[in-house]
Amino acid sequence: MNYICIECGSKFPLESNAWKCSCGGLLNLEYEKKPIDFKSTAAARDHSLWKYIDALPFEKYDCWRGITLGEGDTPLIRIEGNLYAKADYYMPTLSFKDRGAVVLISMAKKLGAGRVIADSSGNAGTAIAAYSARAGMKCDVFVPAATSDKKIKQIEAHGAAIHKVPGTREDTAKAAIDMAESTGLFYASHIYNPLFWEGTKTYFYEAFEQLGRLMPDAFIIPVGNGTLLVGAYIAFKEMLSWGAIDKMPRILAVQAENCAPIFKAFVGGMDKVEPCKNLGTLAEGIAIAAPARGAQILKVIRESGGDIIGVSEESITEARRSLACQGIYVEITSAANYAGYLDYIKKYPELKTAKVVFPLCGAGIKSS
Ligand SMILES: *Cc1c(COP(=O)(O)O)cnc(C)c1O
Ligand SMILES: [Zn+2]
Repeated sequence: MNYICIECGSKFPLESNAWKCSCGGLLNLEYEKKPIDFKSTAAARDHSLWKYIDALPFEKYDCWRGITLGEGDTPLIRIEGNLYAKADYYMPTLSFKDRGAVVLISMAKKLGAGRVIADSSGNAGTAIAAYSARAGMKCDVFVPAATSDKKIKQIEAHGAAIHKVPGTREDTAKAAIDMAESTGLFYASHIYNPLFWEGTKTYFYEAFEQLGRLMPDAFIIPVGNGTLLVGAYIAFKEMLSWGAIDKMPRILAVQAENCAPIFKAFVGGMDKVEPCKNLGTLAEGIAIAAPARGAQILKVIRESGGDIIGVSEESITEARRSLACQGIYVEITSAANYAGYLDYIKKYPELKTAKVVFPLCGAGIKSS
């Protein structure tokens, strides 16, 4: 199993703790996986993402067994007609980040790490802190100084050391990277480390299985750093190669209009993403002004025949209210996904009858 540079193809063993290539390129992961037998996983007694062990970077009996908290296998809720919501807020730390965190932290443990470094202002930090605690590892989480006390308390509750960094989200990442570089500790980054997607990809296996081994016509996917979106791409590529599907579902991505650098690059026909100014949005969890994986995200959306839109602040608030009135209480960021769906059916009326899945990424009690 190796990290492989997306620019020059250089390979780095996992033991190197590399997070970036010397050429500046970001890293993907390569390893041998076996096709999933979706008939047998559908009937598996294991109700977690670990039933897909054949396509995960671990053995059946491996250290993940002492670390799993039963993440994955979340409900698929029919909203109306052919519209479904996948409820990833039914997770140990109440967001989909647990999928990526359990895989990343289990691997850190397997590699012998005693201490890991992460940077996040929200759900990723909480998930990494929780699984590090579970794995018996120390954890340092760098957060922007402006992060709310509520989120900091949740991370600290798991015993992680908090480092508050003044300035932008990018300054926070830089501080974490500086510590990782100077200490050689494992950088448990949900953005740079491709192991994280090996967890998020299971969301798409599950949706496929839950829809009777069929993919929907489209997945609505929120995008900040693209951890769910790149997971989609990996799942689709694998499933195409296994013959489980014969075409990719469309990826319909969603950003908040007030912080939408990928949307701007997409409509401008660009291959790279220019950092934008964050004008302030309620959807803080996707407000990433300078996404490190921007070029990769653009490529994925285009290859799936997909699209991306920016949703307004009012539509996010309204979508949250509307979901709550249907018994579904999500954090504000997560309401952007339903707002995105409502905008997409205006843009593409044929989507109204198409089969579409959108995610409920985080629980309502996470935001005020
Ligand atoms: C992390 C997160 C997102 C966006 O994920 P990215 O990986 O940054 O694209 C969306 N919603 C919620 C609730 C999240 O926690
Ligand atoms: Zn390289």
